[in-house]
Amino acid sequence: MHDDTQENALFTGETFLDSLRDGREIWLDGERVGDVTRHVAFRNSARNIARLYDALHDPETAPMMTTTDRSGILTHRFFAPSYSADDLLASRDAIAHWQRLTYGWMGRTPDYKAAFMAQLAEGHDFYEPFGANALAWYNRCASRALFMNHVLVDPPVDRNRPHHEGTDIFVNVTGENDRGITVSGAKMAATGSALTHATFVAPNSGTAARMEEGKDEAFALVFIVDMDTPGLKLISRPSYEKNANSPFDAPLSSRFDENDAVLIFDDAFIPWENVLVYRDVEKAKGFYAASGFFNRFNLQASTRLAVKLEFAAGLLMKGVEATGTASFRGVQSQVGELIGMSNLVWALSTALALDPEAGVGDSVVPKLQTAAAARMYMTSVWSRVREIFETILAGAPIVTVSSNKDLQVPELSPVIERYFRGTGLPAMERIKLFKLIWDALYSEFAGRHALYERNYAGNTEQQRLDILRWSDARGDSNRYKAAVDACMSDYDVEGWRVPYLAGTDTA
Ligand SMILES: Cc1cc2nc3c(=O)[nH]c(=O)nc-3n(C[C@H](O)[C@H](O)[C@H](O)COP(=O)(O)OP(=O)(O)OC[C@H]3O[C@@H](n4cnc5c(N)ncnc54)[C@H](O)[C@@H]3O)c2cc1C
Repeated sequence: MHDDTQENALFTGETFLDSLRDGREIWLDGERVGDVTRHVAFRNSARNIARLYDALHDPETAPMMTTTDRSGILTHRFFAPSYSADDLLASRDAIAHWQRLTYGWMGRTPDYKAAFMAQLAEGHDFYEPFGANALAWYNRCASRALFMNHVLVDPPVDRNRPHHEGTDIFVNVTGENDRGITVSGAKMAATGSALTHATFVAPNSGTAARMEEGKDEAFALVFIVDMDTPGLKLISRPSYEKNANSPFDAPLSSRFDENDAVLIFDDAFIPWENVLVYRDVEKAKGFYAASGFFNRFNLQASTRLAVKLEFAAGLLMKGVEATGTASFRGVQSQVGELIGMSNLVWALSTALALDPEAGVGDSVVPKLQTAAAARMYMTSVWSRVREIFETILAGAPIVTVSSNKDLQVPELSPVIERYFRGTGLPAMERIKLFKLIWDALYSEFAGRHALYERNYAGNTEQQRLDILRWSDARGDSNRYKAAVDACMSDYDVEGWRVPYLAGTDTA
C-alpha cells in the first residue's frame, strides 16, 4: 500500500534525465552521441519517459502508481512482487496509466523489465551462489524504479551451427578474476537501451533450447551491465525521431521512438556483483521459467496493447467519419471488429491479474497458460489491425500534402481547402488526422511497430512450441486426451457402454 510517510527516492523526470548523462557509448549516423537527453534522435523520447517518472510523484497519481513493499521500499506497484490478485490488478492499473500517457506507443517503458526485477525479492535464492547479488539488484531497482532494458537474443547469423561454435559472435566469457568477468560478443535489438540505466543480459527460451551442458558453459550467463560500462557499444538503427519533419507531419515518430540498438561487448568488464548466473547451463536454461518473468511481462504487454488498440479504434472511427463512410454496414462491421479485439485484450489483461497462480516465495503471478495464450494472440493482432485500416480507409491516407509547409503557402490554400477537406472537416483538420493515421500505420515508425508486435515475444513457432511444452508439463495434454478416452469408452462395437444410454443402440 502507498504510505505518505515514506521517503520517495524514485526518479523524478528531472533526476531521470540527469542520470542518463554519463559516459555511455551510443553510435548513430557515423557519430558518437554526446548527451543523449539533448540529442535530436533521442530527446523527445527521453522526455516522454521522464514524464512517466513525474507521475510517480504527482499527488493526483502517486497513490495509484506506488506501493510500499514488504521490506519498506516505496516503489512503483509493478516493481514490487504481488501477493494477491488485487495486487496484480492494482499493478495493471498503474501500467495502464503510464501507457495512456504515451497512447500505448512505447512498449518498453520501465515497467516492462520490472516484470522480472520484482521477482528477485522473493526469488533471489534461485541464483545461488549469487543470490545476494539478485537481492541487491532488486533493492536498487525498486527504490529508484530503474529503467532497465534486456537483450536475450543472439544475432541472426549461423543459426544452423551448434550454438557453442558461436564464440566469434554470441556473448561469451573471455576472462575472469577476483573482481569479475569480461565478456565479448553481440546481442540483438535492445529496445530503448540508449535511455536506460542498465541492460539485463541472458538467453531467451529459443537460445537456451540450443545450449548443451558440457559445451555451452561460456555462454551460460545471466548478468546486468550498467550502460556506461567501458567496452559496451550501442549501435543504433536509423532514428525516426531525428528524421521526423515536424510534430504535424510525424506526431508519433517525433516523440515515441524507442531506438532498438545492437549491443556489442568488447571485453566489457562485469563486476561479480552484477552476475546472477555464471557458466551454469542448467540455470541459464531454467531461470526464465523459474522467475515468473514470462507470466508477468504478458500482463504489462497486454495492458499496453489494449491501450494501443483503443487508440487505433479511435483513429479508425475518426478516419471513416472524415471519409464519409462511417454509416456503411461493411465499414461498421470492421470498426466493430477492432473494438472487439481491444476488448478481448483488455479481458486477457484482467484475467492475467485476477486468476493468478503461485510464484516464487509468497508471490503470485499471472497463470502461465493464460500468459502463453495472450502472447500468441497478441503477436498476430496488429497485422489484422493493419489489414482493417488498409481495407476500410483504403487510399484515403495517401491523399495528403507533402508536409506542413504546403499548408503555409497562401497560393495553395484555396486548392487545399477545397480538395483536401474531409466530410464535415476543414482541410487542415483532415490532413492533421491522416498524418497521424499515416504515422501509426504506414510510416517507417509504423513498420517497425508492426515488426515489434509480431516478434518481440519470441519467434512465432517458439510461442506455439512453448504452449505445447507447458501443456505437457502441467498435465493439460493428458487431461485433453483423457476426455477423448472417456468419450470413446462410452461405446464399443456392440453399442453403448454407459447406463444412461442403455437400450438405444439401434436405429
Ligand atoms: C522491433 C524489435 C525490437 C526487439 N527488441 C528486443 C529487445 O529489446 N530485446 C531482445 O532481446 N530482443 C528484441 N528483439 C528480438 C526479438 O526478440 C526476436 O526478433 C524474436 O525473438 C525472434 O527471434 P529471431 O528474430 O532471432 O528469429 P528466429 O528465432 O531466427 O526465428 C525466425 C524463424 O526461423 C525459424 N527457426 C529459428 N530457429 C529455429 C530452430 N532452432 N529450428 C527450426 N526453425 C528455426 C523459425 O521458422 C522461426 O519462426 C526485437 C525485435 C524487433 C523486431
